[in-house]
Amino acid sequence: MQIEPHNHGKKDLQMSVSSRRLFLLSSALFIAGCGTKKVTSTLPSPIWDYKPTLEEAPVVVPAPPTKLNVGAIGRSSWAKGNPIPRNMNRMLPIRYVTVHHDGMTAFKSTSRGAASSRLETIRKSHLRRDGGRWGDIGYHFAIDPAGRVWEARPLSWQGAHVRAKNEGNIGVVMLGNYELQAVNRAQLASLNQTLSELMKIYNVPVSRVKTHQEWAATACPGESLQRAMTQMRRTSLA
Ligand SMILES: [Zn+2]
Repeated sequence: MQIEPHNHGKKDLQMSVSSRRLFLLSSALFIAGCGTKKVTSTLPSPIWDYKPTLEEAPVVVPAPPTKLNVGAIGRSSWAKGNPIPRNMNRMLPIRYVTVHHDGMTAFKSTSRGAASSRLETIRKSHLRRDGGRWGDIGYHFAIDPAGRVWEARPLSWQGAHVRAKNEGNIGVVMLGNYELQAVNRAQLASLNQTLSELMKIYNVPVSRVKTHQEWAATACPGESLQRAMTQMRRTSLA
């Protein structure tokens, strides 16, 4: 019996169609954040409506063991309520530090009481976000116009200050609106010290010390603070 030879003429030319990934970009660039340009009467908006997808849901890891040593004024000295753990995620290993302004009205008072009540205003406004789903003020540290450093959200919790980029990202807010006011020497020195300490403790290179507008379309942290940050990263933080 004759065996049919292999048919070498028929090559399988059918190529598998590689599947394409659809990248669903956010509908548009949100022009929001800590202070949309020139708006001074609104409450701070470091985050807009945002529901994390399953993929983005952070893994629970132990809290970082370190505590900042810049002499930050304790959270309990200003906050009129405790963090709500069920509305927060544990901090992931720290990789970034991001600088913001609060973007409300210009704020030049060097009074401790004024800074304290401004922080409480921000905390309350953040607690109302997303239908009350935030567990605390979104930032980890705040610096007032006198250069005082305030502890805000405890570092053991992930912050809520840059949309979809909060994992391992420490949020530092300068109280005031630096679209409308200039950064003063005292707070700049304090910011410099805070950032360099955080960089050292968490081994964060200067390339990962960012401002809000370097992550997303926002005026935050304002023109004057943005300029100061650019310079600081080239000089004292480099
Ligand atoms: Zn911001």
